[in-house]
Amino acid sequence: MRRSITMLTSAALALSFGSSCQPTGQQPADVIATLFAGDAAEWIDMSYSYDTSTIFWPTARPFDLEVVSAGMTEAGYYYTANNFCTAEHGGTHLDAPIHFHESGHTTEEIPLRQLFGPAVVIDVSAASAANPDYRVSVDDLQSWEATHGPLPEGSILLLYTGWGARWPDAERYLGTASRGPEAVAQLHFPGLHPDAARWLVENREVDAVGIDTPSIDYGQSALFEAHRTLFAQNVPAFENVAALDRLPTKGAYVIALPMKIAGGSGGPLRMVGVIPRAFQRDR
Ligand SMILES: [Zn+2]
Repeated sequence: MRRSITMLTSAALALSFGSSCQPTGQQPADVIATLFAGDAAEWIDMSYSYDTSTIFWPTARPFDLEVVSAGMTEAGYYYTANNFCTAEHGGTHLDAPIHFHESGHTTEEIPLRQLFGPAVVIDVSAASAANPDYRVSVDDLQSWEATHGPLPEGSILLLYTGWGARWPDAERYLGTASRGPEAVAQLHFPGLHPDAARWLVENREVDAVGIDTPSIDYGQSALFEAHRTLFAQNVPAFENVAALDRLPTKGAYVIALPMKIAGGSGGPLRMVGVIPRAFQRDR
């Protein structure tokens, strides 16, 4: 079972706000006030909309919106309402630990504190552009740490591959526009290497891992080892994360709230980045 994690601790905030471009000595209460005061921070929408263009796994049921009413009623007032149907795993979504680990948290069981925290972004876009089967390595994680310090406890680790620029072109984003079980072998996109997933859970205490591709395991994965390793420690994943190119390497916060599906293995996710002005795009 995952160890208890502190969220918005003084230590985490000191790390996030300890850069040279931010006044030192800022207390957590000041930080919260800064985030919510006027235009002191920029708010970034990190979710894709759900519509007929939303990309789903080739075997998953795509998003369907059925109009129940849209217009004037006989009683003389305007009324709109819809029904929708969707797989849990499509568009910007949560993977709950139970997705690949039998005793892992279901969607509604994930502690809220794991869905909000300081964000760190590891940029592997150059390597991914050169190789669509690229996997983020232990070396990538350690190289980031050599420059920026240890990945903070309670942070949300975001892997920026540059794949968001391909959305919503399914052929370029997934590696194939085909659908059905035969299409799975044709998937090509970057992911997290299983060795890096193991290093993360054995050596660091991040709250969640997100990526701007359809899966935390790369497209050619057959055993989904990164999923299995993270989820065995109740570290959830966020997939098809949007707008990662707009986040700084560190200094931002992420709020990632999924639809609260009881017993769910994941679900549609509304993800928001909050970037204090001082930290906008230092990459
Ligand atoms: Zn998923």
